Amino acid sequence: ETKTRERLPAIPQGIDKSTFIKALDELGDQLGTDNVEVNEKPLVDGWYMEHPNTHDMMPILDDEELVASAVVYPSSTEEVQRIVLWANKYSIPIFPISMGRNLGYGGAAPRVRGSVVIDLGKRMNKILDINPNDYTCLVEPGVSFYALYEAIQAKGYDHMWIDTPDLGGGSVIGNTLDRGVGYTPYGDHWACHSGLEVVLPTGEVIRTGMGALPGNNTWQTFPYGFGPYSDGIFSQSNFGIVTKMGMTLMPNPGGYESFMYAFQKEGDLEALIEIIRPLRIGNILENVAQVRHAIQTLAVKGLPRTKYFSGDGPIPEEIVREQLRKMPIGDHTWLYYGMSYGPPHIRKYKLDIIDQEFKKIPGARKIDPSTLPEDEYFWSRDRIAAGVPDLVELLWVNWVPNGAHVAFSPVSPIRGADAMKLFNLGKRRHDEFGIDFLPAFCVGLREMHLIVEIVYDKNDPVKRKAANDCLREMIDDAAKEGYGEYRTHLVLMDQVAGTYSWNDGALMKFNERLKDALDPNGILAPGKSGIWPARYRGRGWEM
Ligand code: ADP
Repeated sequence: ETKTRERLPAIPQGIDKSTFIKALDELGDQLGTDNVEVNEKPLVDGWYMEHPNTHDMMPILDDEELVASAVVYPSSTEEVQRIVLWANKYSIPIFPISMGRNLGYGGAAPRVRGSVVIDLGKRMNKILDINPNDYTCLVEPGVSFYALYEAIQAKGYDHMWIDTPDLGGGSVIGNTLDRGVGYTPYGDHWACHSGLEVVLPTGEVIRTGMGALPGNNTWQTFPYGFGPYSDGIFSQSNFGIVTKMGMTLMPNPGGYESFMYAFQKEGDLEALIEIIRPLRIGNILENVAQVRHAIQTLAVKGLPRTKYFSGDGPIPEEIVREQLRKMPIGDHTWLYYGMSYGPPHIRKYKLDIIDQEFKKIPGARKIDPSTLPEDEYFWSRDRIAAGVPDLVELLWVNWVPNGAHVAFSPVSPIRGADAMKLFNLGKRRHDEFGIDFLPAFCVGLREMHLIVEIVYDKNDPVKRKAANDCLREMIDDAAKEGYGEYRTHLVLMDQVAGTYSWNDGALMKFNERLKDALDPNGILAPGKSGIWPARYRGRGWEM
């Protein structure tokens, strides 16, 4: 539901309002006045497809915390350079976004209130190249997974697939830089990219990998080039603004088939994960597969939970089960969603092994997809695992009124004991804070992410606080057991970064040295991933 909020004006700290307005006018002279917008209107939340670029539409702190002072729209790498030089001149914090659909992790919001958001995607949205022989592409920040998919279809390139995350409206660059994942064999987006063009915080432009060699034709086919591999420092960081990125595309495997298994008991998770590990590492299970808890089968129907339960606190398990029994898949606790690729005889070979292994768990059932109606969530997973962008995953946001979501996402090896430990840790804290526990395990190649989305009523300050408190406890609990998050919301970045503390915080010290060398004035996305420039460090910005 769209909500308009009352608000205070936001200007960057350390600059007075008139100097700031004068500085914006100066930038307007360079970019065109239409491309510099002061954020003085009420904050409107919109929804996924019409999301704001001025603030986090899924706030977990006070509305005024993560708010931009202005938004600017460069049209080229040169204009990004000019913005960076301008920010240095006035010591104004800038925060780049590609499309700002990073919902659940902060959306378009800057970490520091009053930052100027650089919305790269609005005008820099070209697909610069699609190469049908090399199976690669080169994109600008405003290219979404939908746009890339549609461009490949429009060219009739049936031999190439893209990989899409759960929601296809986000930017290919934004998602990849945040190390997001998709569900084909090319699901590790960061691992599948090749080559970046980056504007550094001091205004220089570099091309990484083969891009540094003038006249090369290998930028999108060999990611490393020569010398230190620099791409890594530009992911989940505040060391540069990425203006172009190369991405590899997957060959059409010549057939595919989604499958789903249902498991009865909560404790089946342990044995299931043990079965999954060798199959996944051995590539019999070929994609980032999901093991989802039954409550999600209900939530993703898109109906509010009050339809099933009017009480406070977590919905009782009996009620979930009673509802499941009325649904096509029937009663279960865990669902495995996977896909097999290739022509029928290749698939059969793999699917037979999988069937034999999964059925070792008493009560395991293979669900026949032909029994499932068209609107069943299974078909959304089927599209996504075939590289077809989709939006159905959004539906569970309706679980509560004014539904917003924020994720807890620790990683572990693919081990049954770890899965149970993380499951119990999350469940205990959700029960304590009276929140429905919606866990899903996403199995990468040698690791799995537990993804727990807390869905909360963002208009209720008590629910916001419960979500934040619950997350903070889980992050600490997990760290005590040796688990860390792979990605997190802006407001949790300091805490998560703090858990990666081996050898007296040596990694953060290294990041801070890089930050100070690359961004001496500390203008680029201060605080992102817990990395604060010298100017801000130890002055109470951390939270
Ligand atoms: P998406 O629209 O794909 O969900 P966003 O544009 O919200 O992604 O980007 C996610 C995060 O990644 C942003 O908050 C920002 O910190 C970072 N980011 C996105 N695009 C760039 C970029 N081109 N250069 C540097 N950092 C970026």
